[in-house]
Amino acid sequence: MSFKDLPEERPSTFDETGRRVYLYPAAVKGFFRTRRNWVQGFLILFFLLLPWIHWNGQQILFLNVAEREFFLFGLHFRAHDAPYLLFLFLTFAFAIALVTAVMGRAWCGWACPQTVFIEGVYRRIENWIEGNHRERRARDQGPWTAEKVRLKGFKFFVFLIVSLVITNSFLAYFVGSKPLLSMITSSPLEAWPSFLFILFSTAIIFINFGWFREQFCMIVCPYGRFQSVLLDKNSLVVAYDYNRGEPRKGMVAAVPQGDCVSCYRCVQVCPTGVDIRRGLQLECIHCTACVDACDDVMATIGKPLGLIRYTSESELEGKKRTVLRPRVAAYTLALVGAISALTFFLSQKEFLQIAVLRAKDFPYQVIGSPKGELVINHFRLDISNQTRSATSLTLSSSENGLELVMPMSPLNLPDGAHTRADFFLRFPATLLVQGERKVQLMAQSPEGIQTLEVTLVGPNNK
Ligand code: SF4
Ligand code: SF4
Repeated sequence: MSFKDLPEERPSTFDETGRRVYLYPAAVKGFFRTRRNWVQGFLILFFLLLPWIHWNGQQILFLNVAEREFFLFGLHFRAHDAPYLLFLFLTFAFAIALVTAVMGRAWCGWACPQTVFIEGVYRRIENWIEGNHRERRARDQGPWTAEKVRLKGFKFFVFLIVSLVITNSFLAYFVGSKPLLSMITSSPLEAWPSFLFILFSTAIIFINFGWFREQFCMIVCPYGRFQSVLLDKNSLVVAYDYNRGEPRKGMVAAVPQGDCVSCYRCVQVCPTGVDIRRGLQLECIHCTACVDACDDVMATIGKPLGLIRYTSESELEGKKRTVLRPRVAAYTLALVGAISALTFFLSQKEFLQIAVLRAKDFPYQVIGSPKGELVINHFRLDISNQTRSATSLTLSSSENGLELVMPMSPLNLPDGAHTRADFFLRFPATLLVQGERKVQLMAQSPEGIQTLEVTLVGPNNK
């Protein structure tokens, strides 16, 4: 199938039997390509270096899923902080919805790691080793020769090294850069589960960026599916100006003819196999390659640039594009709401989290003493230090007759510590009313004082 006769009824990356049709997009130069090179270069460095940056001794972005612990730019969350993570997720989701409603698939075309790594790294390597799109297509369709084996072997070897580097940086987000370094430097025989894990992750990155490519956007990525409901006629999209372009050359004999000369250059450069002249399509990731390609053609034939450009369906229909509209207002409100809720809850968050649990032995013990019968309750403190520094904690009670016994006091809490500590409350049975009583304890640390409520239990001496 040539790029000049794309099927109407299915994406051009499948044949009539549903088998993959491999694409050979041509390289393109131009206004947007230059800017995307800069953006992609910056993002590649950002994605790769971010997990290796530490601040105050802590990795600044660390998603420790195994331990259910998350470090996000100076903030520390645990699994029980799910409400904060929910608002964080909602902030991200509403931001994406808002950007899509206003600027279309700007994320896909400019910032998604799938696009950034394929275009910024893998396609460049392919071009460098195997030559341009025509040479690559001809080689793939030709017989296996020594030259083909050499070039393919070298290309896959370089892909493998690059995939290994990317995998290690991506894994550092989830296993931590320091543990990852020790995984890398230890012998595979010493830590073979980690070694197999790195190998498996590298294989996924290698297959995805090296071969699966645009299929991920079309088949796997959920955002690609629901972006069509986020867009409307006023969203900024990459589109072909059919008013100017039609009737295109070769379509009808009528004069005057439109500006499209049917050179198919826009199709030839498309990384997802789209003919943008057929209108907005789900497969289009708004990468602007067709804009640069067509501008180049227009410049050559002396026509105004922008036959394919960033525009909106409204503008193509001759109407004015409205930026502020109900869906943009709704997404903005939702985004502001999510950010406000997140900020509010974070401002209320206790970064020294303390919970009092009843120990799992007897609910109480009764002992005799010269002053009469005494009751002992055994409790356990569950403390999580998320203050980003070492701290200490002292527990006390101002309740008359209540004696607090804590073997380790003050309790030292290193940065990030999740600790449990036992303590006992001893009190006369007369303190209880119908076998129980609520009392308050003070947990004092350099961060402030927290009040904890516990229920004393004992014999029900009415
Ligand atoms: S690159 Fe421009 S002129 Fe050429 S086929 Fe595409 S839209 Fe028409
Ligand atoms: S149609 Fe144009 S903007 Fe869309 S993916 Fe293809 S080249 Fe990129």
